[in-house]
Amino acid sequence: RAKASLTTDVCFYEEAMDEAVRNRRRMVQQLREALDQDQFSLNWQVQASVETGEITGYEVLLRWIRPDGAFISPADFIPLAEESGLILPIGEWVLRKACAEAAGWAAPHKIAVNLSPVQLGHVDLPRLVHQILLETGLAPTRLELEITETAMISDMERTTHILRQLKALGVSIAMDDFGTGYSSLSTLRAFPFDKIKLDRSFMSELDGGPQSSAIIRAVLALGESLAIPVLAEGVETLEQLSFLRDQGCTEAQGYLLGRPKPVADDLIQLEARTLWAGAAAA
Ligand code: C2E
Ligand code: MG
Ligand code: MG
Ligand code: MG
Repeated sequence: RAKASLTTDVCFYEEAMDEAVRNRRRMVQQLREALDQDQFSLNWQVQASVETGEITGYEVLLRWIRPDGAFISPADFIPLAEESGLILPIGEWVLRKACAEAAGWAAPHKIAVNLSPVQLGHVDLPRLVHQILLETGLAPTRLELEITETAMISDMERTTHILRQLKALGVSIAMDDFGTGYSSLSTLRAFPFDKIKLDRSFMSELDGGPQSSAIIRAVLALGESLAIPVLAEGVETLEQLSFLRDQGCTEAQGYLLGRPKPVADDLIQLEARTLWAGAAAA
């Protein structure tokens, strides 16, 4: 009896595995079609000065809406794109499209583009970025590249070399999701980042107790002593914004300021201004 049930379990397990493998294959195939059939688009999320509410830039976020209307979160498809190597053509598409769109804006705001560690490891990125800047006519100083520490830990020396080449082009480099990894601090030591993006988990836990506010304060102090501006991600409430203002945080980004939107327009600017009047009163 014990043996029989073990066999059944194994069969069940194998079936579940097969199903998972089939699902991944299907999804990778769909990702390939998405690229060929123009199913990707870009959203823009505003970033603003905590002190003045003035727009400092926009982060570009990739969107995939399948022909059946389903919205797939980048948190779900980016890892698969990375595993399959498709992140290389997808990442190149994002970079080119984002630079081209931003080059056409009336206001020359900065744009922040997310880079996968795979892109840093597998393409001649400085050459590609240089080529795209020339092609689109976007001023290099308007481009910021966001990387996570995952990109740094695999081959720190090689990665910092590439980052230095990118900076030599005139683009800036931001450390994304700061505080969530295993070696955030040593990553900061390895390369002179132009910006620290404090992970939004600290913001969401701010109301939960003194720990998160202590960590936020410590990161802001760290940024100040290293002379690196800190941007707080995931700002959703006026209370959070007021806290950041009191603590001297440089920039903020989050649903309170604006959700990611298909166009980066002046409406967002108006919304931000109104909001700051509210935060100042709070
Ligand atoms: P990320 O770079 O940390 O981007 C910020 C994420 O937080 C975005 O999720 C954004 O919509 C979300 N967010 C912004 N404000 C708030 C807020 O106030 N509250 C909450 N709860 N969330 C907020 P999204 O667009 O789903 O992207 C998730 C992740 O996918 C990004 O995290 C980034 O790691 C990755 N990603 C997105 N676009 C690209 C891309 O073009 N290339 C690469 N390699 N990765 C991308
Ligand atoms: Mg980012
Ligand atoms: Mg982030
Ligand atoms: Mg994040």
